Amino acid sequence: MSQLETAPRDLIEAHQLARLQLGFKRILPNNRFYAQKLSNQRDSFEMAQLQDLSSLPFTLKREFVADQAAYPPFGSNLTYALSEYIRLHQTSGTTGRPLKVLDTQESWDWWAECWTAVYRGAEVTRDDVVFLAFGFGPFIGFWAAYEGAKRHGALTVPGGSMDSLQRLRAMQEVGATVLVCTPSYALRLAEVAQEQGIDLGNLSVRTTIHAGERGASIPATRHRIEQLCHARTYDQAGMSEMGAFGFSCSRRQGVHVNEAEFVAEILDPRTGQPVHEGQAGELVLTNLGRWGSPALRYRTGDLVRHGGYHCPCGRSYLFLPGGVLGRADDMLIVRGVNVYPSALADILHRFPEVQEYRIIVTRAGALDEIALQVECPPSLVPDIQEELHVALNLRVPIEAVPPDTLPRFELKAKRVDDRRPKSRLD
Ligand SMILES: [Zn+2]
Repeated sequence: MSQLETAPRDLIEAHQLARLQLGFKRILPNNRFYAQKLSNQRDSFEMAQLQDLSSLPFTLKREFVADQAAYPPFGSNLTYALSEYIRLHQTSGTTGRPLKVLDTQESWDWWAECWTAVYRGAEVTRDDVVFLAFGFGPFIGFWAAYEGAKRHGALTVPGGSMDSLQRLRAMQEVGATVLVCTPSYALRLAEVAQEQGIDLGNLSVRTTIHAGERGASIPATRHRIEQLCHARTYDQAGMSEMGAFGFSCSRRQGVHVNEAEFVAEILDPRTGQPVHEGQAGELVLTNLGRWGSPALRYRTGDLVRHGGYHCPCGRSYLFLPGGVLGRADDMLIVRGVNVYPSALADILHRFPEVQEYRIIVTRAGALDEIALQVECPPSLVPDIQEELHVALNLRVPIEAVPPDTLPRFELKAKRVDDRRPKSRLD
């Protein structure tokens, strides 16, 4: 554990303030995006105290997207000359056009450092063999996990371009002790192992670490992975435009924010005010070392609960029970697929016969399910289902209902009928 992880809060905050002050000196003279954005705040650039951060405007993802559209291809959130940048990644584009993110060597080293906190939290050591079961492409997460494992001193094995059986065999052959993949993929690997008669208990994997989607902090999902993989399962939270900000500790019931490298605020989305311990709100983050492509007061859209600063593991970093609970906006996650009501609307509206519709959200165990009620002729249902399947890779039950039976709206339509239990948020 690093010294700062268990330090008193005033020391952690002093460290964050010093980093911010350094960052502003680097960013402001050279970074066109933030120089423009903060042009009205020139007086507060000194950052006399950490609380001054809250006087700065939020950064929204759509601002980064608009900036890249205005200054293609990389946008203007660049602190250094283009020749200083050594890596390019991009977001999945689930919510629209993918965002490109560039890193300098310094920023890339910072990513790796953030991941060492993930491995420390999962009690991974230099003696471990870390296997990354992921098809390495433009998505940043597992590249950073790979760099972090190397930096941590573990033997690091990339498992791209392999099918599940090949991965299982490779893990067996190299004696992998740590498996890094998405939570869904861990379940898939276990399924394939079962089909092939491979007993995962005979493999040397004792730890699994999950990134790329939520799941490892959902108790039922975590238990299932642990049972099937005969391992202890840890979560990691991060995003391309921000960094790897969260990691599980031995408590394994959520994530700590890595406050050496990020300043976290949890704000009530309705009032914009900080929530109290025990309450949920939107996570707003500032990174403290990715000066090549910084994100200041970035509205992550992630819904989290403030879990205080005391943890049985000894860390005094902010704890988020349950990790990232979901999106603060309206994204739904159905069988591992991110579904936006706007994407459903986009598909439904391709059919002129479709009048009104309603999305019904329910929860079965830890997983969300959706069904649709659509005002359309019953004969159209198979076509809509096929279109949804092609676009979202999801089979959605659809009930055709007669015209004019669903509510109509004049302003701010509410087409999502959320029937999930509310306990997680209130
Ligand atoms: Zn802890």
